[in-house]
Amino acid sequence: MSMNNQGRPSTPNEAGMVAEHKTFTGNKALQIEEPLIFETGRNDVTGVDIDVPLDFKPRLGSHRREAPIDLPGLSEPEAMRHYVRLSQKNYAIDMGLYPLGSCTMKHNPRLNEKMARLPGFADVHPLQPLSTVKGAVELIAQLGRWLLVTTGMASVAMSPKAGAHGELCGMMAIKAALKARGESRSKVLVPESAHGTNPATAALLGYKVVTIPAREDGTVDPASVRELLDDQVAAIMLTNPNTCGLFERDIKEIADAVHEAGAYFYCDGANFNAIVGKAKPGELGVDAMHINLHKTFSTPHGGGGPGAGPVVLSDKLAPFAPVPYVRFEGETAEFIETRAEAKEHGDTPFGRMTAFHGQMGMFIRALSFMLSHGCDGLKQASEDAVLNANYIRVGLADLMSLPFGNRPNMHEVLFDDSFLKDTGVTTLDFAKAMIDEGYHPMTMYFPLVVHGALLIEPTESESLASLDLFIATLRDLVMSAKKGETERFTGAPYHSPRRRLDETAAARKPILKWVRPEPASVEAAE
Ligand SMILES: *Cc1c(COP(=O)(O)O)cnc(C)c1O
Repeated sequence: MSMNNQGRPSTPNEAGMVAEHKTFTGNKALQIEEPLIFETGRNDVTGVDIDVPLDFKPRLGSHRREAPIDLPGLSEPEAMRHYVRLSQKNYAIDMGLYPLGSCTMKHNPRLNEKMARLPGFADVHPLQPLSTVKGAVELIAQLGRWLLVTTGMASVAMSPKAGAHGELCGMMAIKAALKARGESRSKVLVPESAHGTNPATAALLGYKVVTIPAREDGTVDPASVRELLDDQVAAIMLTNPNTCGLFERDIKEIADAVHEAGAYFYCDGANFNAIVGKAKPGELGVDAMHINLHKTFSTPHGGGGPGAGPVVLSDKLAPFAPVPYVRFEGETAEFIETRAEAKEHGDTPFGRMTAFHGQMGMFIRALSFMLSHGCDGLKQASEDAVLNANYIRVGLADLMSLPFGNRPNMHEVLFDDSFLKDTGVTTLDFAKAMIDEGYHPMTMYFPLVVHGALLIEPTESESLASLDLFIATLRDLVMSAKKGETERFTGAPYHSPRRRLDETAAARKPILKWVRPEPASVEAAE
């Protein structure tokens, strides 16, 4: 049997045979086939022993339920096994390398979790009087300070709850600033490599989105920006490092051109992880930037949330920051909750983004991450993230294709699918074969500027051994594709409990409700 570098069978036919070999239980090795809890449970079993209530007279009249409630009954070990088995079907950063680019699924040190669970933080309620939660306010203020220092900006709005929400906040501040100048501009410039949330944010605020074409080398040319600038442009939304993992070298020149045209510079800071401690957006001419705490400063990131997207603002935009915000007066911090309070300090907030103060649990984790790393540690984390991504590039550059040439990248490395040309293997097939090797695939088909994009972000928390194994696995897969072993790919994944799923149907037409099959139809099915 031929083995790959990890000592696993790699020949497609043998892998195919494994798939053919159906087990009686449907289980695959120690991966247990798990039905829905409603299909397992029996109404006459329970994990809890409750006394029959004495003298119980229901007072619901005609609303009284006649039919059984139809909840599944399980004993304690059955319930426990059900959920543990389900949890094992999730791939997680705690199980292995998570190469998804543009997501920064970094390791979340358990210390952060411990801090977030301290009763003094975990048990506070947003409606408590401020005088009883001074520590929580102090924590928000301290985190805000760290964000201002690392970004070199003037002010911060802590309340936005995700990156996209932060974009909306920053762009609303820009809109308010224009209005205060008596202007209402109609356009926003967005490079073609931008994350979809950028044009979506601009469009939501009623702006016309004008696309800036990318240069040969994957970055934005200041000349193209200048060509598009006029007195109708409200802002540019630029990501740096950009979604191709490249640093926008001309960012200063672009910022100057934007400001000369009377427009504002919104920076999408989702990739701040690559430059913390190395470059300050405030010194690059940025007017507003969101920070995805869940990408840059640890805190869990999965299942769509919860995240946190504080927005840092320049001097020009600071007066428009939404309430609530923290105002610094020397060493003391004051929490400004209402527009009236803000007015007393000469500020004119554009409004409010959320009911309360933001994602407190995420704030605690982020500050814990910052304090435990220190300034030097945060800088090193960025350096290591960039080093790791470059290590992967160098380890694969001879076999996989780099759309913008073999030059240094930032925290993520972008390949395209031209190395698969004439192999009969598609980007999707390649990604599916990675699952058989025990890896979650990288980000595919994003950014859209590159055909068949494969975007890999290892983050700083992967060891050299882990990177070497990942590189060796990808090299084995590429060689296999080039040798014409297409079956290893086109039928992959062979070893997962479920094979190829109709992901579009799953996203567009999810079946979210379980209906007990009629007894007759069960018989018919059998
Ligand atoms: C993740 C990301 C966003 C959106 O952030 P969310 O927290 O997912 O809303 C925006 N832009 C870029 C470049 C991103 O990577």
